[in-house]
Amino acid sequence: MPYEAVIGLEVHAELQTQSKMFCGCAVVDTTVAPPNISVCPICAGMPGTLPVVNHRAVEMGLQVALALDCHINCVSIFARKNYFYPDLPKGYQISQYEQPLAERGKLVIHTSAGERTIRIRRIHLEEDTGKLTHIPNGSLVDLNRAGVPLLEIVSEPDMHSPEEAVAYGETLRHILRYLGVNSGDMEKGVIRFEANVSVRPAGSHELGTRTEVKNLNSFRALERAIAYEIERQSRILASGGTVEQETLGWNEAGEYTYPQRSKEDAPDYRYFPEPDLPPLKIDETWLERLRAELPELPNAKRQRFIAQYHLTPKDAARLIEERAIADYFEQTVTHLPPGIAPKVAANWILGDLFALMNACNADIYQLNIRPQALAEVIALVVQGEINQTTGREVLAEITKSGRLPAEIVEARGLKQVSDADFIAEIVRQTLIEFPNEVQSFRSGKEGVFNWLFGQVMKKAAGKANPHIVRQELIRQLGS
Ligand code: ADP
Ligand code: MG
Ligand code: ZN
Repeated sequence: MPYEAVIGLEVHAELQTQSKMFCGCAVVDTTVAPPNISVCPICAGMPGTLPVVNHRAVEMGLQVALALDCHINCVSIFARKNYFYPDLPKGYQISQYEQPLAERGKLVIHTSAGERTIRIRRIHLEEDTGKLTHIPNGSLVDLNRAGVPLLEIVSEPDMHSPEEAVAYGETLRHILRYLGVNSGDMEKGVIRFEANVSVRPAGSHELGTRTEVKNLNSFRALERAIAYEIERQSRILASGGTVEQETLGWNEAGEYTYPQRSKEDAPDYRYFPEPDLPPLKIDETWLERLRAELPELPNAKRQRFIAQYHLTPKDAARLIEERAIADYFEQTVTHLPPGIAPKVAANWILGDLFALMNACNADIYQLNIRPQALAEVIALVVQGEINQTTGREVLAEITKSGRLPAEIVEARGLKQVSDADFIAEIVRQTLIEFPNEVQSFRSGKEGVFNWLFGQVMKKAAGKANPHIVRQELIRQLGS
């Protein structure tokens, strides 16, 4: 019997605020900071301390909720989720339970089968826990992360394949990065996924029993773990067994899930409203301001780039991947002389600038090539002042020296030579120099043409106009 998979995702995203969720401690990069340098009595859970809500974290959460078309609760309630763990000094986590920040949103994803809309069930604010490091004779606690603002985004069980789940994860991560609320650094654990997976006979509309796979920290892990669970549960059902509702871990190296605890005796978190915090009230003016401050989101930007600049969907998708690149592209376009298509600028950025960024291990701004300078180089090439190869060299030179394109071309004598007599003369010299190659070309080895072309360009120190060289070479070889 064929089975259908049903998947719902819970995503935990740290919010990139300056300070923690309920105290003034700085949010530090917990993968590099020395342990316990950013801790105070509040996030260390000392008795008698009181939490204060981080205004900026609420704004970031609201912006995510707006970007995901959620209904925002004008009053939301913080709640205590009680459990003991050494990385949770208070003995409870402040979260939201019955009345979360926002509910009922949606996220449009793109898969090989086309567009799909995944419903968002809820979004709530909470605080992160500390980190434990296990050593041979004990465990070490680092509270730098304790109390870092965390946004939990929970989907409805609307996905049906690992591919959809990954597309959902990537699309969501993209939006968080565009909003500037999360760096998207999966290796640093600033976004974590939990996958809820069940299977049911194809065509059925009832939900099967689900398992929940915790702590998936890469898209690869997300994909593999879901695929593994679908396979495992389908096998159980096919052999007449029943799936047990449980919480699973994912063994990265062995690529299998393993039971962590059964859901039947799930910890009773004994949620109750946080007595130390008033209800969180969101008024319409605040929301209006945040809505007005929302940046253009990836999907809208991609569609606009295709329509406005006549880019291919693929180029548009690559350009909008990073907001900084998309901005850079648009600035370059404004500096292009009339008549040069934006597509040309896209090619230069996606080809040459990306190569330079790779080679220099730099982001687009660290290259120090202002959009205006790139536009000038492009114009020089399109207008035939320099050729494409020289254009590339000029860009590399700008990165090194910061000089202006025209200056570099002038100072290094890079200006392309289009003078027909001059080119004719170099071609003539080249043909005299390589009589054997000329002979073999004339006896039918056409491949030699490109080699001869290369020799002429070399003689002209790369500066000759390639179109004229090509024509002249054809002319002289033909005679
Ligand atoms: P909990 O908070 O105990 O993990 P929730 O009811 O909040 O439980 O559900 C968490 C996630 O599990 C949601 O993303 C939801 O879409 C998903 N989910 C719930 N039931 C199923 C199911 N039968 N199969 C797959 N996913 C499910
Ligand atoms: Mg859960
Ligand atoms: Zn603190």
